[in-house]
Amino acid sequence: MKIVKAEIHAVEFPLKEPFIISYATYPHMAAVIVKLVTDTGLTGYGEAVPDEHVTGEQVDGTYEILKNVLAPQVIGQSPFDIENIHHRMNGAIARNPAAKAAIDIACYDLMGKATGQPVYNLIGGRAHDNLQYPKVLSIESPEVMAEKAKKAMEAGFSSLKLKVGGADSATDIKRIYAVREAVGPGMPIRIDVNQGWKTVGHAVQVINKLEDANLTWVEQPIRMGNIRGLADVRQKTSTPIMADETVQSMEDVLEIIRLEAADYINIKLMKCGGIFPAIAMAKAAEAAGIIAQIGSMVESSVGSAAGYHAVMSRRNIETAELTGPLLFAEEIGDLDFQLPYVHLADKPGLGVNVDEVQLQKLTTMACVVEGEQHHGN
Ligand SMILES: [Mg+2]
Repeated sequence: MKIVKAEIHAVEFPLKEPFIISYATYPHMAAVIVKLVTDTGLTGYGEAVPDEHVTGEQVDGTYEILKNVLAPQVIGQSPFDIENIHHRMNGAIARNPAAKAAIDIACYDLMGKATGQPVYNLIGGRAHDNLQYPKVLSIESPEVMAEKAKKAMEAGFSSLKLKVGGADSATDIKRIYAVREAVGPGMPIRIDVNQGWKTVGHAVQVINKLEDANLTWVEQPIRMGNIRGLADVRQKTSTPIMADETVQSMEDVLEIIRLEAADYINIKLMKCGGIFPAIAMAKAAEAAGIIAQIGSMVESSVGSAAGYHAVMSRRNIETAELTGPLLFAEEIGDLDFQLPYVHLADKPGLGVNVDEVQLQKLTTMACVVEGEQHHGN
């Protein structure tokens, strides 16, 4: 079985309401959907959601790199040769993990469809009884966040993730205690600072004031790239620390292990290049006693399902934060969210039915790559 064609779609997923985090506000999510077609007539879907603030990728560049660099590397290859496919992609261009993830995910979808197995059965099987997802709350006023947190608890969510890291950390502290008060002591609350507390000293000061909020973890309090600093924060505070933006590759995982800089790492397929490298990173973390989570860049059912398959296959990936489809007013897939669980369809591949009419409707630009030839714009 060989991949003979790649169809590449730049798309925009409209959001129900803007998604606000410490470093950006998103009115819609721009993504690139990749369809790989084999000589046996199978179609595998993948997705790239580049985040310029984290990996330096941007959607137009991701589209061009998929069209001109990465798709030509997989034409003629078997999707089962995933080690070699990553080797070829990494040899053709450095970094660009979201673009590589789109190819990786489409290859896994093809492997599953070719063997009649859900992707998780190809990478470790069912290591969890069920998959849960938290309610993610954007940065808003303490009162609004408390109100939304209460509603989420009443709706049946079993954990909350608060986006904080605003300009004023005193307000962040108010946000967190307001939510804790609104939902009571039993509800697990994790917070994501998205680098917003900047320096080690400031982060330590704020985290120590949050002791009584009983947080499950504090995610990425300081700037990415400063793993030494994250280790300092962890040493000077008692709330568990999760690394996110600063962990993008296996090299970053090794540095976190070496410096004992985190209790948890947030692996995202869009940061590391797909399912294949994500699982390797989770295994390295496991050996060091660090727990992994799979997070997302706010992806549709395609990218989110890929993440959940990775979670399902590994005991050391204990949590998932892939709630993109719930934020979209329109998307292309049918990943099944039933509070507080997400259900992976027991079908071959990703188990996602992609609505081709919706895909065309949300497409802003598309092309086909076959062999050496490109068609379209
Ligand atoms: Mg994060």
